[in-house]
Amino acid sequence: MNKYDSERIAGLLCKYKAQYEENTQNADVIVFNTCTVRESADDRLFGQLGNLRGVKEEKPDLIIAVGGCLAQSYGEKLLLKFPQIDIVFGTHNIERFPYLLKSRILTGNRVIELKNESTYDISCLPSSREKSFSAWVSIMHGCNNFCSYCIVPYVRGRQSSRPSSQIIKEVKNLVSSGVIEITLLGQNVNSYGKDLADDLNFPKLLKSLSEISGLKRIRFITSHPKDFNSETIKVVAESERLCNHFHLPLQAGSNKVLKDMNRGYKKDKYLRLTEEIYNMIPDASITTDIMVGFPTETEKDFLETLDVVEKVKFDNAFTFIYSPRPGTKAIKFNNNFSHKEKMNRFKRLVEKQTSISQMKNDRLIGKSFNVLVEDFSKKDKEMLMGRTKTNKIVNFNGDSNLIGRIVYVDIISAKAHYLIGKLKL
Ligand code: SF4
Repeated sequence: MNKYDSERIAGLLCKYKAQYEENTQNADVIVFNTCTVRESADDRLFGQLGNLRGVKEEKPDLIIAVGGCLAQSYGEKLLLKFPQIDIVFGTHNIERFPYLLKSRILTGNRVIELKNESTYDISCLPSSREKSFSAWVSIMHGCNNFCSYCIVPYVRGRQSSRPSSQIIKEVKNLVSSGVIEITLLGQNVNSYGKDLADDLNFPKLLKSLSEISGLKRIRFITSHPKDFNSETIKVVAESERLCNHFHLPLQAGSNKVLKDMNRGYKKDKYLRLTEEIYNMIPDASITTDIMVGFPTETEKDFLETLDVVEKVKFDNAFTFIYSPRPGTKAIKFNNNFSHKEKMNRFKRLVEKQTSISQMKNDRLIGKSFNVLVEDFSKKDKEMLMGRTKTNKIVNFNGDSNLIGRIVYVDIISAKAHYLIGKLKL
């Protein structure tokens, strides 16, 4: 979602003839589009702002703007704490950014603008996309779930789905401009449409999009086990264009912790859903998010999380240590076990998941897959990097003119987090 917004901010600036500058020393305007989902994201921004203080002193005309979730949450405090910041704008003020910038340039005054809800659909803004062949498509904004640890509903507002007709039109336009892959975005895509009268639900939206000719791949993030259902799995199973990858955040395996997190499902339901995915789509991949160190998590609760990891055999997991966020309900829970103990659980979880990821990737050696080539590999600039429909990264040798195309690749070896392949000629 953050990347999607950044592409809109960049698109707006480019509309007014701004140009990208990789080197911050040479830039006239620096925009931070922030995240605040964990404390580490806040710390990173504060560190970067500290580094820019000297640059700003040497170059007083440099304009530093801070937008996004952290800006929405901290507001005025940012201007008070960091004199080097010129503009603060919230998650609901993105379309106003060029006007705020103009105001700063013309008046020399620092500017802040924060709205509590969106009055503008930012999907209509110009976008400066990273890739010409692949695009994010936001289908909804905000979230109604109020998981007890999460700041998102407070900084992004309540759920608001975009009408399906608008989404379908946007995707058709993207396809006619050369896009072959889209990723649908929402904080909880499975509850898409629940706030709209007489519109499609999520599986029906998927089905409609899968009928758009010229579109090769459709992905979606993020699913929520509370609202994820068999109808969605069935639609994915029936369409070649819908990618057989499900990102289904588990967060915890213990019913007690899930209740304290206000997640709205139990361990059994989660296990049933993943079993259903594997039954209906045997080659599907399932990835997840898991948090350790939630304040009420005991060793017994943690072992239940490991049990789910063992049972589901995720292809990959994004693992985190709980980070207290001011304003959320969980901050009031007693956090009475040590950082050392949290680190110990985190390490055990990562070790278990890494061995499962390696085992699952090893099984793919000798098989062949369609891979959408995205770029050069980050690990080895001589190699290309692409993704299978199951969202596995594949590195292989090939010519740069393959970027943006779907090619067939034989898998010759496997690491826990990526595959190595050979282009099939
Ligand atoms: S579903 Fe829960 S974790 Fe996800 S954005 Fe909404 S409140 Fe946050």
